[in-house]
Amino acid sequence: MNLYILPPLISSALFIFFGWLVYKKNKDSEMNQNFFLICVATFWWQFSWFVLFSINSTYSADILVRVGYIGITFIPFTFYRFSISFFNKVGTFDKILSEIFFVPPLLLAASLFLSNDFVSGYYNYPWGFYPKAGFLHIFYLAILSALALRIIYLAFKNIKLFKDNIYVVKQLKLFLIAMVFYILSAIDFVTNYGINIYPFGFIFIIIFLVIIAYAIVTQQMMNLRFTLRKSMVYFLALVSVFIPVLIWDKFFSIVWPEALAWFNFVAFAAILPLFGRLKKYYAHFSNRYFFSSLYDSRLLVAEVGKSLRATLEPDKMFAGVSATMRPAFHFKSVGVLYYEPKGEYWSVLYNDGFVFSGKKFYLDQEMLQNLFKKRRHPFLVKDKKDPYFESLMGFFQAISAEVVIPIFTDHKISGLMFLGAKESGDVYSNIDIEVLGIIADELSISLENGLLYQRLQDFNAQLQKKIDKATVNLRLKNDELQKVNELKNEFISVISHQLKTPLASSKLTLEIMDIKYGKAFDPEAGVMLHSLSMINEQLINMVNELLDVARIQEGRLKVDIKSIDILSLIKKTSLEFKPLADKRKVVIVEDYCEAQMIDFDLHVAEKAVSNMMSNGIKYNREAKNLFISLKKEADGLLYIIRDEGIGIPAKEQGKIFQKFYQASNAASSNFESSTGLGLYIVKSLVEQLGGKVWFESVEGEGTSFFVKFPYKAVIAPDKKVEPV
Ligand code: ADP
Repeated sequence: MNLYILPPLISSALFIFFGWLVYKKNKDSEMNQNFFLICVATFWWQFSWFVLFSINSTYSADILVRVGYIGITFIPFTFYRFSISFFNKVGTFDKILSEIFFVPPLLLAASLFLSNDFVSGYYNYPWGFYPKAGFLHIFYLAILSALALRIIYLAFKNIKLFKDNIYVVKQLKLFLIAMVFYILSAIDFVTNYGINIYPFGFIFIIIFLVIIAYAIVTQQMMNLRFTLRKSMVYFLALVSVFIPVLIWDKFFSIVWPEALAWFNFVAFAAILPLFGRLKKYYAHFSNRYFFSSLYDSRLLVAEVGKSLRATLEPDKMFAGVSATMRPAFHFKSVGVLYYEPKGEYWSVLYNDGFVFSGKKFYLDQEMLQNLFKKRRHPFLVKDKKDPYFESLMGFFQAISAEVVIPIFTDHKISGLMFLGAKESGDVYSNIDIEVLGIIADELSISLENGLLYQRLQDFNAQLQKKIDKATVNLRLKNDELQKVNELKNEFISVISHQLKTPLASSKLTLEIMDIKYGKAFDPEAGVMLHSLSMINEQLINMVNELLDVARIQEGRLKVDIKSIDILSLIKKTSLEFKPLADKRKVVIVEDYCEAQMIDFDLHVAEKAVSNMMSNGIKYNREAKNLFISLKKEADGLLYIIRDEGIGIPAKEQGKIFQKFYQASNAASSNFESSTGLGLYIVKSLVEQLGGKVWFESVEGEGTSFFVKFPYKAVIAPDKKVEPV
């Protein structure tokens, strides 16, 4: 056999196989289509030379040199077209040129068969026939060089343009190197000019293919890694079984040719199971060392991060992470054991696919610490061969975990994540382990946050429980208080009623006593009788106030709205208070407008007018003024009592209208007949009838009380008064 035919045969086979692979992977990609064209042209060229070197007929040689040259003619143009689709940025000139790329080679190819200008026959070298260059061949070489220079120029331009994108730059550099090797195959052209060297350009074009394959594996060029891995595995397995068989076959054909048929039969039977096993082995091997990351590791880590940030609950965290990791690694099972420091055992926190023999596991803590002492990193259970860790590894193997991923919180190992075997049966690669390491770090941080959050949640829940309990207690206390308050109100109301009758009769008795026997009394007894009547009067007032309060609270107060004369009421009341004012040397200064009749309750108006006046005298200082005035305003008559007395301390002003409230300066002065009810009653009643009561006061300087009587009383619907 002529061995010279082998190199072109091999290279042509490689090119057509590789080109087809690329094309099949993505038929729609222009880049893949163009690469396929290069491969077809190269195959055409190499395969023709394989035939050319095998024949003896000069007639066939003359045709074959021309047929073979069709491939060569197309190569520079297909290359140019591929480059244009490969580069990220090209101008319109190049784009248009690459569209009509097939015109010049078609013309040249036609000339091959119409004339001897391009190829003018053949040389008959010792190793085979070879085309002889015509004068147009130089022209072809010129086009070839021009296109090659143009491609190199564009490649450099793209490298410069995309210098920040290391992936693009890496691919471009690999492309350039590959291309240089392809150009080196131009050495074969010297043979066209009568120089007798074997056309070893095939070496360079095979190197070109290897570089492109490398780019596909490492740089994901043309998205071919997966297909390439599969074909490589088949190819290697095939070569591994057939080469020894072929060698043995040769050996047998020499030493025992009669048994050759039998041998071949046995060999074939043996090859079949062996082929399957070898294929599996190569798949593992290539997966671990060459095609490790068929997933995009950066994308995976980013996705895991995203799913971790989506929750703060540990079990949801693991569910999210495993769902994200599964499509990348295709593991059969994933599980997480978590350390319970209180009980000092490990329990299953998350499980999908593992079979655990129980719920609690007592792992050797010290051994675990030592396991990750040097490196807190995931590991393959198979790789840990140290007998010291035997019992621990035994546990991992028992649950069929292939990878163990440690999770640290607070610098202590707190979790173990396990991954089962990959569905493909592939081994976890070094890159897988590295990526899992990064994921483990992220998990640790998130878990720490999650646990903090959980502690906070627990704390909140406990707090809520305490609050709920306290609220219930408070409500009970409140109910109790309300009951006590109602009881108190009832008590006051009952007592007041009970007191009213005897007080009224004692008043009557005292009056009769005064009328009948007053004159007979000696002066001392007369004074005593008078003060008895005064005390009786005060008591009656107090009881009346208490009864008013009870009525207000129970909504039993009856009002009778009719036309009343406020001005006269004020004047009359001021006359009544004159003796009291004189007693305290208080000067009453009056200033009234011309007032009109208003629709109001007389009883309420009396209370308001007299209470304010009484306070104005009571809390005034001796020999000071009390200004009483009435003003006409848009919405009613304004009754103002201004004194120059003790005033109300600023801090207490907010409480002055509360029931039973007496300001500190008033209480300490021990004013007689004070209940702290007057203002409360007045404000409640006046405001229930649509009026307003307020005051201004400066402690030590004096107080002004204001009562606004509306022209027409309106009973507010939500108020507890009812018309008579
Ligand atoms: P009483 O006068 O019976 O104590 P009131 O309800 O009329 O009850 O008044 C409540 C409190 O308001 C008084 O105890 C007093 O401290 C304060 N007060 C009312 N009027 C005046 C005023 N003109 N000057 C200073 N303090 C006053």
